[in-house]
Amino acid sequence: MTHPTLLLNPGPVTLTTRVRSALAREDQCHREPEFANLILDIKKRLTEIYPEAINSYDAVLVNGSGTCAVEAMLATLLPAKSTTLVITNGVYGERMTRMIQLHDKPMRRLQFGWSDPIDLVRVEEELTGEEKITHMVAVHNETTTGRLNDIDKLAALGQKYNIPLLLDAVSSFGGEALDFSAQSLLAVAATANKCLHGVPGISFVMVQKSAFATAESHARSLYLDLLGYYKEQQQGYSPFTSPVHACFALHEAILELEDGGGWQKRHAHYSRLSSWLRRELSQLGIKTWLKEDEYSSMISSFCIPDGITYKILHQACRQAGFVIYAGQGELKKSIFRIANMGNLRDEDMARLITVFQKILQP
Ligand SMILES: *Cc1c(COP(=O)(O)O)cnc(C)c1O
Repeated sequence: MTHPTLLLNPGPVTLTTRVRSALAREDQCHREPEFANLILDIKKRLTEIYPEAINSYDAVLVNGSGTCAVEAMLATLLPAKSTTLVITNGVYGERMTRMIQLHDKPMRRLQFGWSDPIDLVRVEEELTGEEKITHMVAVHNETTTGRLNDIDKLAALGQKYNIPLLLDAVSSFGGEALDFSAQSLLAVAATANKCLHGVPGISFVMVQKSAFATAESHARSLYLDLLGYYKEQQQGYSPFTSPVHACFALHEAILELEDGGGWQKRHAHYSRLSSWLRRELSQLGIKTWLKEDEYSSMISSFCIPDGITYKILHQACRQAGFVIYAGQGELKKSIFRIANMGNLRDEDMARLITVFQKILQP
């Protein structure tokens, strides 16, 4: 039996037939009311995924991949007269550092090793230090390693010192718990094509309603101005051409998530698949890069075993119909990664495990 290639990279994901079918819908103009109604429904349903968000957050859709939502969030919500503490322990935290630099906003970086947790004692030292910190920025699931950072504790520190937190939850929204009742959580950037199982092209920022109360944007960019999107989207419209088909897919993907029992059910499915994979690979002598309880549910990182290269692993998986993912930057030579988002069933995971058995015990 031949199988279609399954994507085990951290987005884009393998689509379900239901979401793929939405891509073939009749074309629509983004300035017509039927499309505006679709956008309004997407916005409403995005805030309902985490019910604590319904009353206090607005979902603002942005054209582009997850990076676009993250950059629009930082560009628009960080004032020129602010000092942001950027907390990093991987590629995506460091990418935000670069964005804040490019947008010329004052910041302090608190850098941790790519394999290390965020040390909350050091965060608190920074928040109470000489330099007045006004905002905090962090990554929820650091996709670099699959580490789930302790956002609740960061939000609690934000609450204690009255410092708003802006979060990159691009690889966790829809698959992990996110406490939208935390008052310090000012904004959360996410995307259609990771845990929500849509296609790339549309992303979004969940923004506390109070953030736009003053209706002041700090963006030094036209296209990345979240406030511009926010204003026109109140009626379902967008300042620029929308990726119409990506929106069809996102809408269908949200309905499918709802029908499947919401983020909790998806989280349970992801957790079962990923912990099973880690258990089986460790029996084959492939060590996990982090400790078991440090992982998020949707991606795992493994040490490349002695005597084998990433290229060999990638090729063998590719031939069997799976796309696995390399490490990034300084971890490129040490680890490989396997994500388990998208349309991935138990039997697919069982088949992947047999591929690794064949590579390691030929
Ligand atoms: C995927 C991802 C992004 C966005 O990357 P894109 O290439 O723009 O999709 C941002 N942050 C994290 C943590 C991610 O996993």
